[in-house]
Amino acid sequence: MNNKLVILLVEDEIAISNFISTILTHNNYNVIKADKGKDAIKLTASHCPDLILLDLGLPDMDGIEVLKIIREWSGVPIIVVSARGHEREKVEALDLGADDYITKPFGTSELLARIRTAVRHNHKVREENQLEAEKIIIGALCIDYEKRIVKVEDKEVHLTPIEYKIIVLLSHNVGKVLTHDYIMKEIWGPYLNENQTLRVNMANIRRKIEANPAEPKFIVTEVGVGYRMVDEV
Ligand code: CA
Repeated sequence: MNNKLVILLVEDEIAISNFISTILTHNNYNVIKADKGKDAIKLTASHCPDLILLDLGLPDMDGIEVLKIIREWSGVPIIVVSARGHEREKVEALDLGADDYITKPFGTSELLARIRTAVRHNHKVREENQLEAEKIIIGALCIDYEKRIVKVEDKEVHLTPIEYKIIVLLSHNVGKVLTHDYIMKEIWGPYLNENQTLRVNMANIRRKIEANPAEPKFIVTEVGVGYRMVDEV
């Protein structure tokens, strides 16, 4: 029986495509390749991959369009591959349902870590839909959803209701980067459109949970994009 995970690699540059597929194959993934957006959509429907690595710059259509179309019917984890400096493109992709992004050029270990997290997160979401988790533990941080308390090294941390909502939102999406807009809409609704309130709250959360708020370990900043709660420390 072949139970390898199947990754659909969507990349039009042959050298990059070959490079990534070699890495993935060596790491026990089955790779199927597409160099056009249209083929990516067809292969997603016909092969039901476990994850898609999607380059946003494709010859026949915008990768963002590919993402939109696939998301109309599929929840498959999608990691978009984007060029350095294209923060707006990344934010757009995340808001349209991409699970994560990786910036070219990237290292092998970074790529593999992102893939593992996206797949694990997808499984976690499925499990949690069946059975609501009571708590989450990430290193010394524990969030107890039932008792509505947060502890660091077994000491209770006193958060405001908004701070608690933010940390719960991030923890429900552990491993995944959430954009500023997404967090603000989830917490404050559609009418708060300046980042300052979120930044202040995040600074307060970090002051309370991080050993060194200037070098946060639990909630990291994705510059120009948003925040991510790590799934292991
Ligand atoms: Ca490209």
